[in-house]
Amino acid sequence: MTCRPKSKEKKTQIREYHTPDCGLFFQAERVIFRRKSRFQKIEIIHNDTYGKMLFLDNLVQTTENDEFFYHEMLVHPSMMVHENPERVLIIGGGDGGALRECLRYPIRQGIMVEIDSEVIQAAQEHFPWLKKIREDDRAEIIVGDGREYVEKKDAEFDVILVDSSDPVGPSQVLHQIQFYENLKKRLRSGGIAAAQVGSPLYHKEAVRRTVSELGTIFSRMRLYTAPVPTYPGGVWCYVFLSDDREPEKLRREPPAGLKYYNPETHRAAFSLPNFMRELLPGKGSQILP
Ligand code: SAM
Repeated sequence: MTCRPKSKEKKTQIREYHTPDCGLFFQAERVIFRRKSRFQKIEIIHNDTYGKMLFLDNLVQTTENDEFFYHEMLVHPSMMVHENPERVLIIGGGDGGALRECLRYPIRQGIMVEIDSEVIQAAQEHFPWLKKIREDDRAEIIVGDGREYVEKKDAEFDVILVDSSDPVGPSQVLHQIQFYENLKKRLRSGGIAAAQVGSPLYHKEAVRRTVSELGTIFSRMRLYTAPVPTYPGGVWCYVFLSDDREPEKLRREPPAGLKYYNPETHRAAFSLPNFMRELLPGKGSQILP
């Protein structure tokens, strides 16, 4: 189905190239916020289809209207499988969507470690959920480097979620094997971690390398996917990491109010198409019973 552009009026467009010859563009009805922080260029625009959209260095991170796909599928598979998630750590995730999803559970504490205070400030001003999180006594937001946090702190967590941006700039270290070796030391016994690892189409070799490396650190490394309309290729990969938990056993009813996640989408997420099975070490199937 084709569609005519909205108006001939010249508006700001953000073009995100996924390969040198293709990508997505978003028309900004309004530029709401634009600033260069110490770490990256931060932009928030209003687009009539996606609502407010957060970009870091020209790459879309979060949009008001499709963020639920990404955040629910980063958070709920691990939270639903863990027996009793009391302490949760989020690395990155400055827009607050992942922390918001964790706070739907009766956890004792949710800590988010985000390197860029200006992302937090901008998101708090323009995305309604972060303001609410600030009022929740269980939430703690730390401005700092997630790599250093897992290396130097000795706190332990039941669930750790890596909500990083792409492996460029400050996020690069969050895609390295040493980061995951240290992250594992921060997991309590029975703990589960999850991370976003890119597009199965555009970042195929990076996904292959990541799952192969993570498979040497965690006894159970499971690849799963979810649709994210504004991310390159529209389908996104995540990993579920544990030493002793398989993702098939859900321990509770999902929290109320979710838009994407349910036990069926959970199960479907771990059923991989053939071209993605090829990315797994041993090229195995991981269909759940
Ligand atoms: N969901 C988004 C995606 O996959 O595109 C990304 C979420 S989030 C906005 C990524 C955040 O990670 C950014 O706000 C960035 O500042 C933060 N970040 C990057 N490197 C970091 C580091 N070393 N430690 C902590 N946070 C980091």
